[in-house]
Amino acid sequence: MSTGFFWDERCFWHGGGNYAFLAPVGGLVEPMPGGLPESPAAKRRLRSLIDVTGLAATLDMRGADPATWEDLARVHPEPFLEKFKMLSDDQGGELGLRTPFSKGGFEIAALSAGLSVSAVSAVLSGEMRNAYALSRPPGHHCLPEWPNGFCLLANIAIAIEASLAKGLARRIAVIDWDVHHGNGTEAIFYDRSDVLTISLHQERNYPLDTGDAEDRGRGAGEGFNCNIPLPPGTGEAGYLSAWDRIVVPQVDAFAPDLIIVACGFDASGVDPLGRMLLGAQSFAKLTARASELADRHCGGRLVLVHEGGYSELHVPFCGHAAIATLAGSGIDAGDPLGPRIAGQQPGPEFDGFVEARIDAITRTLGIG
Ligand code: ZN
Repeated sequence: MSTGFFWDERCFWHGGGNYAFLAPVGGLVEPMPGGLPESPAAKRRLRSLIDVTGLAATLDMRGADPATWEDLARVHPEPFLEKFKMLSDDQGGELGLRTPFSKGGFEIAALSAGLSVSAVSAVLSGEMRNAYALSRPPGHHCLPEWPNGFCLLANIAIAIEASLAKGLARRIAVIDWDVHHGNGTEAIFYDRSDVLTISLHQERNYPLDTGDAEDRGRGAGEGFNCNIPLPPGTGEAGYLSAWDRIVVPQVDAFAPDLIIVACGFDASGVDPLGRMLLGAQSFAKLTARASELADRHCGGRLVLVHEGGYSELHVPFCGHAAIATLAGSGIDAGDPLGPRIAGQQPGPEFDGFVEARIDAITRTLGIG
């Protein structure tokens, strides 16, 4: 069976207008250069790279309808959606924190969510084995009424609720390897036992005050949220160890019908918004491990949904490695930064420090 790739050129047209980070200096304010860090270039270049290598020709390339109002309203309150739509119909604006959008931004965000909804639906209905959704804007930080961190709508949560409502699945696991904490996905499912949320992230990056290992869920959801905060500088060995020692037993115990990866590439060794040390091959190895879990529990049903990743140079190669692995393809775009990142991997002393942190998390989770 095939691997699907869901994308739409219009998702690259989402823009933050004249948005700028501001740096107060004395009584003055300096606008930082470069505009919104979440630019379309990294994603557009990934889409281009899979064409150039021939990988795209081996995939089931699809577009999607926008998520419907009904789909969106399962996660987001209607007054919030109405306000977002009103601003979008006018001149654009900003809701929440660091989520500027231009005129028509609502339609693009609904399309981004629609790519996730369609990818999940196609995999659950057996049309394809697994899928990649190149959603933009991203979604994993977005709370029901509070967009933040470049995320305007909760793409993965919207796709999960749509598939549960249609009876396509009953238990879904989300594994978030974006370098930032998946605070939106966590919040939406925090008191639920039918959705397991796991987030591997750099501790105290974004948001500053969420993502602790002690946050395990609430009420019926107690034990169904799992945070794995890792120290800055964690390399491939630390990520793979955290995966094998924490992610695997959590997912094995949950036995999901479907696994969704919140697939950020900002744990790359050169990402401007992260301080981790992964290379393209690291993402291939993580994808292979996610596929193993999906084979064991879900008949291979696995969907990767694009989240962050801000290195316009490196994201395309990291993404290519993940998608080729998902598709079982031997097409290899290489990694121009691979030797450099390999040479910067932490030594045994720091890996031992990371391992001690993982030990502590396993004790907090009661699996150590
Ligand atoms: Zn991120």
